[in-house]
Amino acid sequence: MSPDILLLSQEETHPFYAGVNAYFTAPLLEGEPLPLEKFSAAPPLGITLLATSLNLRGWAAKPLYNFFSRKDEALRLAAALERRPFAACISTTHTFRPETTAAIAALVRRLAPDTALIVGGPGAEWNPALRPEGAFTALGPGEENLPALLAALKAGRDPAAVPGIIPPGGTAPATPPAPSSVMDSLPFPDWGLYPAAPSGVAVQGSRGCPRACGFCSYSAPYAARSAGAVLAEIRRNRDRWGISRFRFTDSDFAGDPARALEVCRGLEADGGAAWTCFARADSLLHPGLPEALRRAGCQWVFIGVESGSDALLAAMNKGCGREEMLAGIAAAKKAGLGTHGNFVVGYPGETGGTAAETLAFARSSGLDTVYFSPFQIRSPGIPALAGAQGGLSGGEGGWEHHTMSSAAALARAEEMIEEISADESAPLIASEALFSLFSGGSGEDYRKNVLDFHGALRSWHAARRAGSAAGMAGARERLRRHLQASEGGSGPSREAAL
Ligand code: SF4
Repeated sequence: MSPDILLLSQEETHPFYAGVNAYFTAPLLEGEPLPLEKFSAAPPLGITLLATSLNLRGWAAKPLYNFFSRKDEALRLAAALERRPFAACISTTHTFRPETTAAIAALVRRLAPDTALIVGGPGAEWNPALRPEGAFTALGPGEENLPALLAALKAGRDPAAVPGIIPPGGTAPATPPAPSSVMDSLPFPDWGLYPAAPSGVAVQGSRGCPRACGFCSYSAPYAARSAGAVLAEIRRNRDRWGISRFRFTDSDFAGDPARALEVCRGLEADGGAAWTCFARADSLLHPGLPEALRRAGCQWVFIGVESGSDALLAAMNKGCGREEMLAGIAAAKKAGLGTHGNFVVGYPGETGGTAAETLAFARSSGLDTVYFSPFQIRSPGIPALAGAQGGLSGGEGGWEHHTMSSAAALARAEEMIEEISADESAPLIASEALFSLFSGGSGEDYRKNVLDFHGALRSWHAARRAGSAAGMAGARERLRRHLQASEGGSGPSREAAL
């Protein structure tokens, strides 16, 4: 029988954003517990793809996720570890705290002491603190290096000879990671690896981004799958598991208009899909594209607006100024798409004046929902462009430049959220991560659900400011209704099950 391989992912939010995320967490967590299982219900694409790849190569791989917050997954993990798997691989795509990867490693060691430990993903690649003691670290795309590492371990060959592998205790691989393979050679994710097929999933049409915005660590390398491969995966999800709701993870779904239109034509012909995507505002100016997105079932587009200051947008190398931003937003709205704008606060050159410009822009932009996040250094080094600007210094833990510090940017972002939230005529504060909660309804129903949920968050904060306990309780009741239809397990249970 093939040796068991476990692919493990525990989702959490980055601690740097705790201040701005308090806008969402305070109404959800303060007071009588709300049913929060939906927040951890969606299985991650990354470990699903890795498990699929390994199984196609003859291993018996099983993805497990959010086992520290879902009882059903905690029980599955306990049972899987009892079988003493050959290897346990910890993903750091959605994990940011060293104590979390250490807790997963400790759990594996306690229940399956002989199991090989491997950690991979962008977190472990950039932050050595996320690599548990005694674990191999796999750099680069897991579909390439993980099967090679497992084969070497199984055959008793030197794992350090595998490209992109750092042995336990090491700091760098002996051989650099192999370049990424052609995206179309990736398998379609096997959502049947979970006890129940999810109702909504992520679809990855491309990785990376061909642009190079100064604050962004997601810019390279860029590789896209063909429209045909993307459509084939979506049809397979629908035919095998009844999945018709999804979110494209592409950095700019509309960035290659010909490809986007081809995907949209296919989805429109199939009918019945409901989805969201990220898109640049200037990409949405391609004639007919927003309408094609809407006809194909797109419900909400997430637009990186970043700033309301033309000077700052130019400094960021955004390649898109205020007027194009407004035109792209207007085109999406005219086509009937919900629009969300993400803003970055604190890029080198940011001042109180440019932040005020951003706030004014957000208020009058016509966007349905917005979010303000502080500029952060996520990669091991400062992004090259930002590093050359404004005397920026620091790292993941904090930074400083001539006009702002990370602490000041965080405080300003929190103030901007508070100011927009207090303005009934301004867009609602929302986070892209929350949109997967709205699994029911399409078209107007979906829009109503999104706006009512985020409207309830705004009402809770208004009641908080007014000191109205009854108002806060009423807002939480509205939130409860949206969270009630659970798709997940039944609450935190690490202690109970493990
Ligand atoms: S901000 Fe968006 S468009 Fe700019 S480099 Fe990052 S992913 Fe690409």
